[in-house]
Amino acid sequence: MIRRKLVAGNWKMNGNRAALSELVAIAAAARPDVDVAIAVPATLIIPAVASVPRLAIGGEDVHPADHGAHTGCISAAMLKDAGATFSVIGHSERRSDCGETDAEVRAKAEALHRHGLAAILCIGETLADRQSGRAVEMVVRQLIGSLPSQAAPDWLSIAYEPVWAIGTGHTPTATEVVEMHGAIRATLRDLIGGDAAVVRLLYGGSVTADNAAQLLHAGDVDGALVGGASLTAATFVPIMNAAQPANAGAGRFSRAQQNNAVDHVIAAQA
Ligand code: PEP
Repeated sequence: MIRRKLVAGNWKMNGNRAALSELVAIAAAARPDVDVAIAVPATLIIPAVASVPRLAIGGEDVHPADHGAHTGCISAAMLKDAGATFSVIGHSERRSDCGETDAEVRAKAEALHRHGLAAILCIGETLADRQSGRAVEMVVRQLIGSLPSQAAPDWLSIAYEPVWAIGTGHTPTATEVVEMHGAIRATLRDLIGGDAAVVRLLYGGSVTADNAAQLLHAGDVDGALVGGASLTAATFVPIMNAAQPANAGAGRFSRAQQNNAVDHVIAAQA
């Protein structure tokens, strides 16, 4: 099964309107063979969509409810109204900063789906889990707990992000990533049957231009979720380029082909 690679950025609590020029440069570097999406802080969704209407812009979190007395929160309907096409959910920083549970993450995914938005659902083990030999067990448990009803490949991607690799400069070996993605794929097969073969599995955690090619082309890795290195085009575009299939040559595509590529991203995330 050939799945198109998806390289997604996560700006976290970084960036301002001046930084939107980075998105413009990222959009200009899009190639036909790789899908690109960027999750930005809520304050930047509307100006980002206006600046790069052909790039998939998403939120970093969403509330499970559609509206109501939830001060400071943002609903899926609001994300959609702002022009977002997807959201990251269940990021480990939200699980640890805000105590988000698997059940809440599942409800967030279902809220996105109700409003026609795509989800990048994050799961990953802690260092203690890995050191105790329980990494696969913990990640599979998280997946089972947070997988939404109606999970399907046309709106859901799973990001495997070991907590100990996020922002640390440390990464698992390609073999460890392949082992974990294999366990995630097998669990998905049990839960959603044949659709599991089409769900994209992203790796996230200290992906940079230096390690992207090795991680992105490891078996069963369909893309990356990138934090720090997504903040500038200079650090993110080489990761996008590294995701290209081996037979694709950077720089040989026409503007029309690039536009087809970003149309595909928008279609894939819609
Ligand atoms: C992330 O925040 O999802 C992430 C992977 O961060 P970084 O690339 O900075 O490790």
